[in-house]
Amino acid sequence: MIAKTEGIVLKSFDFRETSRIATFFTLDFGKVKGVLKGIRKDPGKFGSSVDRFSVNDLVYYQHRHSDIHLVSHCDMKEYFYPLRADLKKMTAASYVLELVDALMPAEEENTEIYRLMQDFFKSLQTAHDTGKLVHAFQIKILSLSGFRPHLENCVRCPNMIQGTARFSLKHGGLLCPSCQGASGETVAISRGAVASILHIQKSPWPAVLRLALALSIRKELKYVLNHFLVFHLERHLRSARFLT
Ligand SMILES: [Zn+2]
Repeated sequence: MIAKTEGIVLKSFDFRETSRIATFFTLDFGKVKGVLKGIRKDPGKFGSSVDRFSVNDLVYYQHRHSDIHLVSHCDMKEYFYPLRADLKKMTAASYVLELVDALMPAEEENTEIYRLMQDFFKSLQTAHDTGKLVHAFQIKILSLSGFRPHLENCVRCPNMIQGTARFSLKHGGLLCPSCQGASGETVAISRGAVASILHIQKSPWPAVLRLALALSIRKELKYVLNHFLVFHLERHLRSARFLT
């Protein structure tokens, strides 16, 4: 079957003598892997060099017995090129590509995550506050991929929580004092950090851009979100340690 869509390049590597294999996050089919045959022998064969940070119009033949499909057309539609000139932005963008690749299963459609990535890359090009964008992306992708942290009350009982709470990595939510006993690893989280996460979860992207985050809240978000993501992914992301 022939599939037509658009996709953001998550990563690519050389394959055999003349080809490349690229992983795209596509608008219509989620994460898709494809081979671009002959692209290194004849760079003009495709209208794109499948660089990271590029958005491409794609046509590919869906392979029935392999997860690597045959890409027949790949034309660059948009390129978030300015990111390459700024180390901080490039690190943030690389982290997001790696996070999407690690978090999303193959070929599971998720249009909202595609739109979120577009919003993120567009904002990142002109933003000064890259840290806030990364936190907002982490919070939104957790919700959109089914891992939304439970922060309204205790995740294990109906108790409401006052003051500084404990966040359970295993249960993905806050714990009241009586549920904290045997719930595995927990991290402390303040009311302010909880309120910021809830606000970002509910707000559309343009409103997130206007949000002011105090330095102490940023530090907490970084700590809690990174721990929670590492717990889910069961590994550290290579680019995460370069984030500031
Ligand atoms: Zn409880």
